[in-house]
Amino acid sequence: MIIKPKGTYDIYGIDMQKLEFINMLVNSYADTYNFKAIRTPIFESSELFHRSVGETSDIVTKETYDFVDRGDRKLSLRPEGTASIVRSYIENKMYGNKNDATKLFYNETMYRYERPQSGRNREFTQFGFELFGSNNEETDAELISLGYHLLNDAHLNKNIIIHLNSLGDNESRSNYQKALVQYLEPYLNELCEDCQKRIKTNPLRILDCKVDAENPILKKIPKINDYLSTDAQNQFKIVCHYLNLLDLNYEIDSNLVRGLDYYDHTIFEYITDDDDKITLGGGGRYNSLVKELGGPDTPAIGFACGIERIMNLINNDDLKGKEIDAYLMSINEEEKIKSLVLSDLLRLNNLVIETNNNNLSMKSQFKIADELHSKFIIILNSEDLKKGLIKVKDNLTKEETLVDENEIVDYLLTNI
Ligand code: AMP
Repeated sequence: MIIKPKGTYDIYGIDMQKLEFINMLVNSYADTYNFKAIRTPIFESSELFHRSVGETSDIVTKETYDFVDRGDRKLSLRPEGTASIVRSYIENKMYGNKNDATKLFYNETMYRYERPQSGRNREFTQFGFELFGSNNEETDAELISLGYHLLNDAHLNKNIIIHLNSLGDNESRSNYQKALVQYLEPYLNELCEDCQKRIKTNPLRILDCKVDAENPILKKIPKINDYLSTDAQNQFKIVCHYLNLLDLNYEIDSNLVRGLDYYDHTIFEYITDDDDKITLGGGGRYNSLVKELGGPDTPAIGFACGIERIMNLINNDDLKGKEIDAYLMSINEEEKIKSLVLSDLLRLNNLVIETNNNNLSMKSQFKIADELHSKFIIILNSEDLKKGLIKVKDNLTKEETLVDENEIVDYLLTNI
């Protein structure tokens, strides 16, 4: 038997219903907030992720699926969406309309070579919303609220709280990095091996370390908020004020840094408001990335959420299966042929129909119709058919009616 690769999974049954429900929510939120769908390639040049997500980020150093194709090109399966969307925004010159923001959303599989565990797969799906061309604080608030409302609409069995922080501008970050290094240097030997490297390559990332998360040294670490420039501080205050106006459940989390290099100013994560603290998604401003990747200086902000983690928080009972309008029962050849022709006609009239697919007995067919919660059972019976009649049973009231076969479509459409 051939089995699926480690860290991947098949989606079917109730999970597929959950996935479709989330997809429906994403599309409907995209509509109301006026974001347009975009699809980019599953693989991109490796350089794109090195330059945007960051040479020293965990994603690039440990997690990308890199390969060389037959033309000796260095490629990577996309580990996240923003870098590709920015690449596409620049390559397709979407910045043409300077007066208006460009608002894009995606819903695609991502690939990271991680140690598989609950909520952490090697292939997973993220939906994300990206907005280019606005540096207004209202935009930060609008985007953060979009994700928050969407997650609340998903009927999750946990409440969501927004963790919020600001990384400030370049100057704020570089002052903070210096302070971090100064504070941590005396404790170097007490940090994990990765953090010992991070202090040289990217000290901010130490705040994000899973190994050192409980290390008491990190508990007393300097806070970035004390190093924000006046402008960055003011900007952050306004964002908080707007989130208050929108009455969103948020808290300032001064340890939040996010694991990707391209962020500046506002960053945020959607986290469950309980001891599990499951991160469902996150994002932030990336005002320098478009320019860094060769486009015009364009402020931007976005976020992405992991669909599998959201699916894990939806109760099976909260999902209604597709309702069957009618189950067509048949036993002999004549009835089966009638079932074939009639089900075709009914489906063309947008009715949801199931039939006897497996030569089942009458008893078994009644049982299946009940299991499918079919609203009607159409009992095709040779005797009735000879008279041009069809027996329809309302499966709720159990009432049976003989209907002229020429009127069956109208009968069902009016009674459903
Ligand atoms: P990130 O791009 O790392 O900020 O991740 C955004 C969201 O994607 C996370 O909050 C998760 O919900 C989801 N996610 C990230 N990595 C994985 C993974 N390996 N498996 C499943 N979901 C993931």
